[in-house]
Amino acid sequence: MAIAHILGYPRIGEKRALKFAQEAFWNGELTAAGLQEVGKGLREQHWNKQQQAGLGFITAGDFTFYDHVLDHVVLFGAAPARFGFKGPLSEQDYFAMARGNKAQPAMEMTKWFDTNYHYIVPELNADTSFSINAHDFLSRLDEAQKLNKSVKPVLLGPVSLLYLSKAKGVDKLSLLDSLAEQYANLLKELHHRKIEWAQIDEPIFALDLDDAWLKAFERAYAWFRTSRPKLLLATYFANVARYQGYITSLPVDGVHIDLARAPEQLAPWLNALPGHWVLSAGVIDGRNIWRNDLDKSLETLQPLAAKLGERLWVAPSCSLLHTPVTLAHEEKLDVEIKSWLAFADQKLQELNILVKALNEGDEAVATQLAESRAAVQARHSSPRVHAVAVKARLAALDKVNEDRAHAYAERRKTQHEKLKLPLLPTTTIGSFPQTAEIRASRAAFKKGDIAVNQYEADMQAHIAYAIREQEALDIDVLVHGEAERNDMVEYFGEQLAGYAFTQHGWVQSYGSRCVKPPVIYGDVYRPQPMTVETAKYAQSLTSRPVKGMLTGPVTMLQWSFVRDDQPRQTTALQLALAIRDEVDDLQRAGIAVIQIDEPAFREGLPLQGAEWKQYLTWAVRAFKLSASVADDSTQIHTHMCYSEFNDILPAIAAMDADVITIETSRSHMELLDGFGEFKYPNEIGPGVYDIHSPRVPSEQEIRRLMQRAVEVVPVEQLWINPDCGLKTRAWEETRAALDNMVKVAKQLRQEFTA
Ligand code: GLN
Ligand code: ZN
Repeated sequence: MAIAHILGYPRIGEKRALKFAQEAFWNGELTAAGLQEVGKGLREQHWNKQQQAGLGFITAGDFTFYDHVLDHVVLFGAAPARFGFKGPLSEQDYFAMARGNKAQPAMEMTKWFDTNYHYIVPELNADTSFSINAHDFLSRLDEAQKLNKSVKPVLLGPVSLLYLSKAKGVDKLSLLDSLAEQYANLLKELHHRKIEWAQIDEPIFALDLDDAWLKAFERAYAWFRTSRPKLLLATYFANVARYQGYITSLPVDGVHIDLARAPEQLAPWLNALPGHWVLSAGVIDGRNIWRNDLDKSLETLQPLAAKLGERLWVAPSCSLLHTPVTLAHEEKLDVEIKSWLAFADQKLQELNILVKALNEGDEAVATQLAESRAAVQARHSSPRVHAVAVKARLAALDKVNEDRAHAYAERRKTQHEKLKLPLLPTTTIGSFPQTAEIRASRAAFKKGDIAVNQYEADMQAHIAYAIREQEALDIDVLVHGEAERNDMVEYFGEQLAGYAFTQHGWVQSYGSRCVKPPVIYGDVYRPQPMTVETAKYAQSLTSRPVKGMLTGPVTMLQWSFVRDDQPRQTTALQLALAIRDEVDDLQRAGIAVIQIDEPAFREGLPLQGAEWKQYLTWAVRAFKLSASVADDSTQIHTHMCYSEFNDILPAIAAMDADVITIETSRSHMELLDGFGEFKYPNEIGPGVYDIHSPRVPSEQEIRRLMQRAVEVVPVEQLWINPDCGLKTRAWEETRAALDNMVKVAKQLRQEFTA
């Protein structure tokens, strides 16, 4: 008998109860006991759902009040000493590590592999020592065991935990044994509690690991030869077959592999699976929202079941943390599109059906299989998915010039003659403060309390205000301020064909922050201009150039749930064509500067280096396709932020934007060094102040940063701008900060032209 299980369930609740509880606790509106109550309720709900879906285990240890990596810091007694915690950690202490407190900044946060989830980075140093602090972990396990006999706790493995940490003054691997020893102690305790199986996640197998790290597994897991539950080693997000030799030599009892991302690893794993091991087959996509093709999954699973019997486990590819919770509350979603989707709860049902089919035969679930088949079939052939004209246009791309008409050096002359900008031109990244009035107006419009003309008039007033402010500040290249946009992807998605939106499709990004990625379900095209009227209006108010502001194809792709029935790059090219149409219309409408934002460009990089080239090739192509319709005289900007640029500089240069603005103030312009060494040929606007804080940067600070910048990049190539958009700021500090920025630009101009 095969069984089903999951690696983890979303924590946030069907309607984001966790977020509201966290925030209420932070605001002092909810007590610690109240917060714990909410957590307990959520866990119980999640376990009940797993139980009802007939899973072989309910999974415990996946719930967290902020982040599971932070929970491991607590579990293994590695709270940074700088916080000075004494005695058992309170809720306040816990959140202080994640969010900072009066005395100490928060611990660092970074992206969890190539997902949009962010984890808290453990801080290690020479004084770090590990000890078990398992009170919460074990009491949650007790809760689970009261509900169900078969509980499978999950732990992030010791090697991944160390690898994902940041160590100062100590070699991480020197801490390996003492950490693994504590894991072994915890496993002993689990064994004592009659836990039969535990899941140990080692997601770093998805990365390019060097020998030292690969060997670390053997050393760490040698500690686990004592009394312990059976161990399922879980990998995900990539093909890990290349590390098979290392994995199969570990003293564990099974492996989970991601067959949604990397179905090709099944064959090598079947060949090499040790005789007594369980194989957990991750056939349901844990990162996307599409209904599973159950027939296809059964085709994969049936031979496995025949071969492995009860050693076959069926699972989603990774934790369901990365999908929204349930379709149950989606009342506005088109019913046909809804029938194509599966969120976490629907995936539990799919597991149930698959396992029933395996154990009792297809007949046992004939109705469910027929229903699934019909939905998959309908989606496959739906005219809503397939737009003939879009496919034809894509097929004819060889007739499109994907490069600008002339090389940058020549365009530069044309643009400079047209725009007549001073040395070190000043600009901003796009958004201005999203004030309470703006948000109120948008909410009223959404609710139907105000008519569309009223809403548009309101937005025009905010745009006019932003233009006046920028003129008063004497900024050179203006923006309209993006008042009409709630989100840079949603705003465009809503106007493009092929996009759908959910009401509750939230996914945790970090802590209490959730995002609701739109769904690209069909061929994407632009039925009509999206920003042209707004851009024309803004430009009509001033004689200075106002940037047309677009979101780039790679970012649109990266921040949406995307189709699984065509390669990502095909969707990216469709998006690129839609944006290309907009660029063309904008320039025809007299917009001389157009910015195509790509903040998510680097996020798309594959986890394994061997795949970088292929990604960068199509990502650059998509950007260029969107931009290359611009005449020489139209200045194309792009913007990227909060990422490493150095290792992808050739790709950034190949995008051939006339101007790139980047976030550099956090690193005190260090990020610019790479551009300097690379001799980045086009113009660059390094960010001169952090936009996350209301703090107004002084003239000296900005000046110092720009002085560093001119040491690295020729002054003729430089612009001056903030790090990123200003929508989270208030006008008061924005005005003051930009005023200082413009003053510095003027001083430097004088100095350089004197
Ligand atoms: N134009 C966008 C803004 O200013 C860019 C945001 C971003 O980089 N994430 O808000
Ligand atoms: Zn940005």
